[in-house]
Order: sequence, then structure tokens, then C-alpha cells
Amino acid sequence: MSLKRLIYSCMFILTLSYAFFVQARPESKAVAPFRIAGNLYYVGDNYQADYLIVTSQGNILINSGYEADVAKIRASVEKLGFKFNDTKIFLISHAHGDHNGGGALIKKQTGAQYMVMDADVPVVESGGKTDFQYGNSRDLDNFYQPVKVDRILHDGDQVKLADTVLVAHHTGGHTKGCTTWTMRVSENGKTYHVVIVGGPFVNPGYKLVNNIAYPKIARDYEHMFKTLKSLPCDIFLGAHGMYFNLDKKYALLGKDKKNPFVDPEGYKKFIAQKEADFYSELARQNAVARRDVNKPEHQ
Ligand SMILES: [Zn+2]
Repeated sequence: MSLKRLIYSCMFILTLSYAFFVQARPESKAVAPFRIAGNLYYVGDNYQADYLIVTSQGNILINSGYEADVAKIRASVEKLGFKFNDTKIFLISHAHGDHNGGGALIKKQTGAQYMVMDADVPVVESGGKTDFQYGNSRDLDNFYQPVKVDRILHDGDQVKLADTVLVAHHTGGHTKGCTTWTMRVSENGKTYHVVIVGGPFVNPGYKLVNNIAYPKIARDYEHMFKTLKSLPCDIFLGAHGMYFNLDKKYALLGKDKKNPFVDPEGYKKFIAQKEADFYSELARQNAVARRDVNKPEHQ
């Protein structure tokens, strides 16, 4: 093979492998950072939702995106007039690379305390290698720098900084330690209940029946929907912008007296739809499992 052909072949293989590794990552558009309400700000893009909570004793950051996204989050925090170094606490929606891939870098850059729901701790500390679904994946986006968790959270634990209190609700299923965050924010004399939904989707390939790596996955999803339905919600947010129609609401921001992120009905509708999706997928998988059990062994 001539040198030229060899170079072309190598370039072709490199392009193919690049396409293979990045194809799973959806397109995302930049979003100018903005204040949602009270001391709660949006610092993510239109796909990955990242939040900054500002207090007199420093700030709390929820979600990091992939490691390559940390610089964008930092720029968003600074554009709002805050210091990235004031990040005292780092929290996540769940241990998937698009929410915690930048965790190690954030801890290194800011010295923030990394706090994670108990069942997601081994995944975070193994850099994604112990995830029940993606631990053996060939997609490099599922892996990140392993990092030591500073505080292990349990269902109902509070995370406090100055007069801000966040509550960690264990809403497992999507990951074993998936977490829905709630807090209250005040604006113009009104107090709003905020819910940041951790992740209610059943991903393609998730086994809800006879899952050896995660035997109680279906029970965790059921528990999650029960919890989400019990939470009072005025301001509806989540781990991805598409959960709560970020694009549409962002376009309405400042155009009306009403804050578009106050959307209790949208929250209820979203949870009901995801719950229906979960039960239909569970029924489908149960039917397949029953058919497999009844299949004669020798045909
Ligand atoms: Zn996820």
C-alpha cells in the first residue's frame, strides 16, 4: 500500500471510530445563562440542564455536563457575575456522564464538596465502570475521571448552605441513585416550590424484568413515580431541558409578567406521561418474559 493510501485509510478509520463514539450525543444549542427565580439560575445548554444556586456563603452547582462542558458552565456562571471558585457544593441529578462527567474537574477547580445519593456513589467513584447498564459499554461518553464523594446522601437528606435548603429525594430506576432535588425560592413576596426531576426515562435496552445487575429496578421506578406525584411543584425543572420545554419557556422569558417556569400543570402532565410509558414498557417486557418461560425447551 502506498503511503498516500495508507494515510487515507487511517483517516477513514479515524473518522469512522469518531462517528461511532459521538453518535449517541444529541445536538445541543447554547443558552445564555439566566435567573429562573429567586437565587436559582440556569447555567446549562438547551439539552443538558445545569443549575446554580447563589447564597451569601457561596454557591451550589447541580450537574456538570461532560468534562468538556465544564468550561462552558464556568463561563455561564461568570457571565451572570458570579465566581466559579465560590462553588462550595456540587450535586448531580444522576450518575450518567452527561450530568456528572465533569465532577472531578469541578472539584479540582473549585474545591467544592461533592455530595451524591448512596446508590450512585460506587458509580461516581468508579468513573462509570460499575453502572448497571453502561459499565461495559463501548461508548466512551459513559466514562469519566473517578472521583471521591465527600458526603453520601440518603433519601430525604437536606443539603444546606446559608438559608438555602435542598432536599434529596431518592428517585431510582434510571440509575440506582437517581436524585430529584427540591427547594423553595422566594420572589416578589411569593414562595415557590421548585422540583428538579432526576430522570424518569426508561432508556433503550433497560431490562425491567429479571435484571440481574439491578433486581429491584421496576420497584424503584414505581417508588419514583409515587414520590414525584407527592411533591408539591410550582417551578418545574429537570436534568434535561426537554423534560420541561426549556426552549419554549426560555423564548417567553421576560415577555410576560408571568414566569414561564411556573408550570404546575406541565409537571403533572409530564410525570403522568412518563409513568404511562414506564408501565407500558413493563407490560411489554413481562409479556416477552412469560412467552420465553412457556416456550418448550426442545423444538
Ligand atoms: Zn441519564
